[in-house]
Amino acid sequence: MSSETVYAIASGKGGVGKTTTTVNLGTALARAGERVAVVDADLGMANLAGFVGLNPDSTTLSDVLSERASVDDATYRLAENIVAVPSGTDLDDYAETAPEQLRDVVDELRSQYDAVLLDVGAGITHETVLPLGLADAVVVVSTPEPAAVHDSTKTLELTERAGGEAAGLVLTRTRPETDVSYEEIADRLDLPLLGTIPEDPAARESVYAGTPLVVHAPDSPASAAYRRIAADLAGIDVPNDRPDDGSESDDRSDAPPAGAQNADADPDANRDSEAEQDDVSSAITEAESER
Ligand code: ADP
Ligand code: MG
Repeated sequence: MSSETVYAIASGKGGVGKTTTTVNLGTALARAGERVAVVDADLGMANLAGFVGLNPDSTTLSDVLSERASVDDATYRLAENIVAVPSGTDLDDYAETAPEQLRDVVDELRSQYDAVLLDVGAGITHETVLPLGLADAVVVVSTPEPAAVHDSTKTLELTERAGGEAAGLVLTRTRPETDVSYEEIADRLDLPLLGTIPEDPAARESVYAGTPLVVHAPDSPASAAYRRIAADLAGIDVPNDRPDDGSESDDRSDAPPAGAQNADADPDANRDSEAEQDDVSSAITEAESER
């Protein structure tokens, strides 16, 4: 594991894939044996809970920030090695939160987990800037769209003002048949390109399933890309560790081959992701029944 523990997953424009990136990098790290906490720091537009099938009516980060609950109360086990701290969706609760308290929450999680991933809100508000300064490394997420790339420059400015460190760029929803140079986009932002996540219908399907993409469709090109970025960030090996798959852990391809199997084409993938989904759902039910 690298010396960095707390990552802020940030973007200038909304809807570019921050939550998808947070959940899938986190899950890929957890499956490689890292202890991971993913935190919904997008206080105004909390949506991480939905991505992992959590009920947002439970105790959330908003309760912690308004000192009604402890961090533990708002921490839910998702699967082996990974917990989530969801945020509330109630506007009244949101009005009462004190984002400054986030520092204490991050410190506490930092002491307990190998990696803490903060899903940061888009735009330029107080609670957007704060996590950028609390993180050891800011991962900027953008699509190749010019508007999104342009707004990334604001995230970089905010990161600098907050005293944070930009680690690099993840470009999402990329397409093979394009003449856009992704390296050039990263160069323009003066950021290393951490990786590109191809446009993949399985990304949306996984949200409806309430299961991270890397579990829902482990063989999809986007999942492979998330595993590779997770491995690079943490300086560890992140194999595609589907159970009973019989293949060596090092057969993970760095660039998914053309025509890579997707979950639909591979009955094993479906079986495995269903098994894991049951696992995740029952872990959540378990966590919820404890309160
Ligand atoms: P943000 O958190 O930045 O608002 P999300 O992670 O919620 O963005 O993603 C926005 C939408 O884009 C979601 O519907 C998600 O399923 C979809 N999406 C994200 N990444 C991809 C991808 N690689 N391919 C296709 N759709 C994607
Ligand atoms: Mg989001």
